[in-house]
Amino acid sequence: MRPEILYPLFADIASIKGIGERTYKPVSNLVGGTKIVNLLWHLPSGRIDRSYRPKLAEAVPGRICTVTVRVVRHIPPQTRKQPYRVLVEDDSGELTLIFFKVYTESIQKNLPLGATRLISGKLESFNGILQMSHPDYIVSPENAAALPASETVYPLTAGISTKMINKYMQQALTKVPELPNWLDENFLKQQQWDDFKTALLNAHHPRYQADLEPYSKERSRLAYDELLANQLALAIVRQRIKKQTGRELRGNGMLRKKLLDILPFRLTSAQQKVLEEIYADQASPYRMLRLLQGDVGSGKTIVALLSMLNAVECGMQAAIMAPTEILAKQHLETMAPLCEELHLRAELLTGKTKGKTRQKILEELSEGKINILIGTHALFQEDVKFQDLAYVVVDEQHRFGVHQRLSLSEKGNKTDILVMTATPIPRTLVLTAYGDMEYSKIDQVPEGRKPVDTRVIPLEKITEVVQGLERKLKGGARAYWVCPLVEESERSDLAAAEERYASLQKIFGDAVGLVHGKMKEKEKDAVMERFKKGEIKLLVATTVIEVGVNVPEATIMVIEHAERFGLAQLHQLRGRIKRGFEASTCLLLYNYPLSETARERLNIMRESEDGFLIAEKDLELRGGGEILGTRQSGFTEFKLADMNFHKNLLHIANQDAKMILELDPKLESPRGKALRVLLYLFEKDDTVKTYRS
Ligand code: ADP
Ligand code: MG
Repeated sequence: MRPEILYPLFADIASIKGIGERTYKPVSNLVGGTKIVNLLWHLPSGRIDRSYRPKLAEAVPGRICTVTVRVVRHIPPQTRKQPYRVLVEDDSGELTLIFFKVYTESIQKNLPLGATRLISGKLESFNGILQMSHPDYIVSPENAAALPASETVYPLTAGISTKMINKYMQQALTKVPELPNWLDENFLKQQQWDDFKTALLNAHHPRYQADLEPYSKERSRLAYDELLANQLALAIVRQRIKKQTGRELRGNGMLRKKLLDILPFRLTSAQQKVLEEIYADQASPYRMLRLLQGDVGSGKTIVALLSMLNAVECGMQAAIMAPTEILAKQHLETMAPLCEELHLRAELLTGKTKGKTRQKILEELSEGKINILIGTHALFQEDVKFQDLAYVVVDEQHRFGVHQRLSLSEKGNKTDILVMTATPIPRTLVLTAYGDMEYSKIDQVPEGRKPVDTRVIPLEKITEVVQGLERKLKGGARAYWVCPLVEESERSDLAAAEERYASLQKIFGDAVGLVHGKMKEKEKDAVMERFKKGEIKLLVATTVIEVGVNVPEATIMVIEHAERFGLAQLHQLRGRIKRGFEASTCLLLYNYPLSETARERLNIMRESEDGFLIAEKDLELRGGGEILGTRQSGFTEFKLADMNFHKNLLHIANQDAKMILELDPKLESPRGKALRVLLYLFEKDDTVKTYRS
């Protein structure tokens, strides 16, 4: 359970004065959560200095000024389009205040004729006349204290102003408790960092521009806290799994040999190399936990199957878990016929498997009649009992988190685990997503694959693109048309896709199909099925086209508004058409304006198909604003740490976490107890809970 000391930080933001019906949603969207702690992790992006207090005659336009003036005259608008103007002066000059669409009464109330006021805002000069539109502050001399000398600026969203968020933040900051120190004392001294509370308060009260930099003392400390929580949580999971002894899986190789004999191809040397690594893990008396990375089409499935056969040769069972129904089915389609030839039973179990079918599978599973079970996470429901599960492959495709891995390890008590992922992941991300997991790479695709002809084309040329497509489809080709990711909401994604679908239907008629995320699984499957069979030749899709879906006949992909996609995502999408041995074409349609990074992304896509290179570039190019690509990737997103700046801290945190668990595996020392608080602070509740069992 969460320690009491953290309760105030996990109170709902509705408890903040000023956050109400209208503001609750925008604020929680902005800060990415509904707890006070989410608000606190929302760090400033700048500061406004209001200490510049010139006489009007000396004031420099373009700067934020605070001036003391008398109200001389009100000039109400003559037409609806005109602003309301108020003339003010000091003994050196004049200034016109400008208000658009503001209630007359409130202006008259705040700026009565003849009154003296302190006014702060951005000064402008228009034809030599000083102006200020919508001053940030208008206060009477008695109220001068209400005008801050400097103000913190936060990233904002529609409906939330700097003033508002500062007000919320001030309240939230009063809730920050003194927390026990979870950092190593010497390290803390050496870094000259403050304690957590001081660091957080200071981070929200930047005094200089330098305080806003990721390398500032405050931000480094907070980033480190977050990274340590991340690394410690992963290390705990790993410790827990590794602590258990495994079984020595050392099959006689008969089934594997038979499979290799019936396959129409020979393994690549990369496949052989990773298989050796996996077999060695399986044979060892320790529990296996390995990550297998391989680009789309690199041939992971067969590697998974061969390693499962090793378990089956030992008379035990193996399972493979996919993130979606479609992918699970696809695994079944690949594996079942091969298993049949080996006289083995492979079955599918998903959330959709119901009634008698499910009953029968469960029975046969517990009797050991089923050798290989394929499914979604429904595989790990309470009532699913294996006779003897020895080996599990998690086909992750980026969708599972640490805690699914945990529940999974609970199932078969000594099962070896292989986690497969389709996107090549840079080393740093491996560390943040998996901790110190051993990993193998398939860094080579089978021979004979033709490179994809990738072209970058402006959206204006869409008519030509459609004409070209028409010719190709007539010639028997099959194509995907991926619709843009729209920033605001999923519904508008859908609207865009539906629109495109309708317009393509006018040209291609029944040969066009549509899949999107809001469709029921059944409908989606049905459309995919028709695309596979070739009844549909052009498939319009939102980005839901599943990572890993296999339609080898599809050789063309059009990606609309490619500039809105992240690199990793583009690479994944393009992977859909890379499977055939025919030449394939990927058309990246872009629209202006094209940001510098978007341009670079498209160039990289045109020039390279090397997933590992693309992944490294992706990480490099992802600035703070480029969250579109990451949002979908499912990678740990950090609030305080930024992998562009805090890589070194990540590595220190990784070492730190290891040391901590070596010295205090149960987190019982004073520092250990403080670290538990840290884990809860960063919402690693699941991980801490493992200590109670
Ligand atoms: P992924 O790594 O994306 O899961 P798959 O395992 O689905 O890739 O393999 C993609 C395609 O390549 C499949 O049709 C598979 O049969 C084929 N394949 C796998 N290994 C080889 C190989 N060594 N030589 C030729 N084709 C292969
Ligand atoms: Mg696959």
